[in-house]
Amino acid sequence: MPVHMEPRDVSADLENFNSVLIASCPVCQPMCLAMQHDSPFIEFFKRGLKTGAFEDYIQSIRKPLEQRGIRTGAYAIHIPTPMMCLWTKWQRNRLLKRAREYEAVLVLGCDSATYTAQEVLKNTDCQVIQGMNMIGTTNATLKFRFPMTFNLDMHRALQTGGAHKHKATLE
Ligand code: SF4
Repeated sequence: MPVHMEPRDVSADLENFNSVLIASCPVCQPMCLAMQHDSPFIEFFKRGLKTGAFEDYIQSIRKPLEQRGIRTGAYAIHIPTPMMCLWTKWQRNRLLKRAREYEAVLVLGCDSATYTAQEVLKNTDCQVIQGMNMIGTTNATLKFRFPMTFNLDMHRALQTGGAHKHKATLE
């Protein structure tokens, strides 16, 4: 059940920082961006397990910041779980260590991912900013294309309780 999110313009939020770490939850977010750009979720022989639309989006944030002299970094961790909502203590400590080098952390993830970063960094001066608007959940069909390409055919974004309402209108 991927969370459905849409990017928000964070340029004004980030303009007063000298350094920004972009912390990504590499699960729901790449799925959402792949669907929104109508591009593959996974093209294994081109990008490995990385999602092109998501990597391009991270670069589109970093590049203008770097051009203005703001130092940026990117952070994601896949083991033992890539899901920021379920990170282990070890993974949380890794973010704490990395984020100490930055004035702000931009979270590319849902409210729960942002909460993880806020909890991890609550005793530091590092500011946590959420880079996505959380809409609800996504319903999509996963499609396989030879040789190792996966696309997501999105049906709809469901707001909380949306499926019940939809069912009720069909009855
Ligand atoms: S933190 Fe949010 S975006 Fe990441 S896996 Fe969990 S629900 Fe999905």
